[in-house]
Amino acid sequence: MSAKNETYKSSIHRFTLGEAVVSTIQDGAHIREPINPPFALDKSDEEIAQIAARNNLPSHGFESGYTPTIIRIGGQTVLFDTGFAPRGLDEAAGHLRRRLAHAGYAPEDIDIVAFTHCHPDHILGVMDGDKPTYPNARYVIGRKEFEAWSSGEGIPEQRAGTRDIFLKLIPPLTDRMTFLEDGDSVVSGLTAEAAFGHSPGHMMYRLESAGKSLLVWGDVTNHFVFSLQYPNSLVGYDDDKDMAIATRNRVLDMVATDGLLVSGFHMPFPSLGYVERTQDSYRWTPASYQTRM
Ligand SMILES: [Zn+2]
Repeated sequence: MSAKNETYKSSIHRFTLGEAVVSTIQDGAHIREPINPPFALDKSDEEIAQIAARNNLPSHGFESGYTPTIIRIGGQTVLFDTGFAPRGLDEAAGHLRRRLAHAGYAPEDIDIVAFTHCHPDHILGVMDGDKPTYPNARYVIGRKEFEAWSSGEGIPEQRAGTRDIFLKLIPPLTDRMTFLEDGDSVVSGLTAEAAFGHSPGHMMYRLESAGKSLLVWGDVTNHFVFSLQYPNSLVGYDDDKDMAIATRNRVLDMVATDGLLVSGFHMPFPSLGYVERTQDSYRWTPASYQTRM
C-alpha cells in the first residue's frame, strides 16, 4: 500500500450509531497565520500566546481542517456540506469526492446534500466544473440562509466574494432544493435546528436513532480552543458576531448538559467529540473509542 493511500485511509472515520452509519471525511486542511485575526479579536497577542501555551498549541498560527459528515439512515445517504471544489483551489483541500470511496460511497450514492451554511468551504464542492458533483442528490438548506445570501441583506461587506460564489453555485440548484425552518425533518431521524449568527441562517442537524444522538453543528465553533474555551470572544469569521456568541453559548450549554456527541466541521479530525463544562467555560473532548463500542 502506498503512503498516499495511508493518508487517505486516515482521512475517514466510520462508525454505527443506533441504526445509522456515520462517516466523517476530511476534505483537507490549511495552515493559517496568525491566530488573531480571525480568532480572539478582543485578545492581545500576549493573552493569545498564554492560551496557546496552556493548550500545548503553537502561538503563531493554527490548522484549519474541513470535515464533512455523511449519515446513512433509513435507506438515504445524506452528506452534510461539500468542502472545497474537487479540482482547482490547491492541493491541501478539495479531496472529499475522491475520499468517499474509502468510506464505501460513490458520488452517485449521495441522495441528499444538507448545507449548514453558504461559506465557501461548505458549498464550493457542490459543483465539479459545470456539473453537480453528486448527480443524484437533492439539496436541503435553511430558508433564512438561502434568502439572506440571495438578497444580500445582512451580509457583511467582507463577504461580497462569498456572495458571488453563492449566487453562481446555489440558486441554479433550486429546482432540486428544499428550504428548512427550525425543527423541520430532513428524513426520519434527522432534524434541522436553527443556529444563526456565524452566518445569517446557519443550521445544525440532529440525528436520533435507536436511542443514540449526534449533533452536526457546522460552524457553531470554528476552533476547538480559541472559540470553544472562549465562546464570548469575537471571531472574524462570524457574520453577525453578537448573534454568533449567543448561539455558541446556547449550543455549548445544551451539548454539555445533554452529553451529546458532536460532529464539528472545523474540529480536529476525526472532528467528533463532546463538550465538557469547566469552571467558567467549556472544553472540547475528542471522541476516541466511544464510537466503536
Ligand atoms: Zn467553515
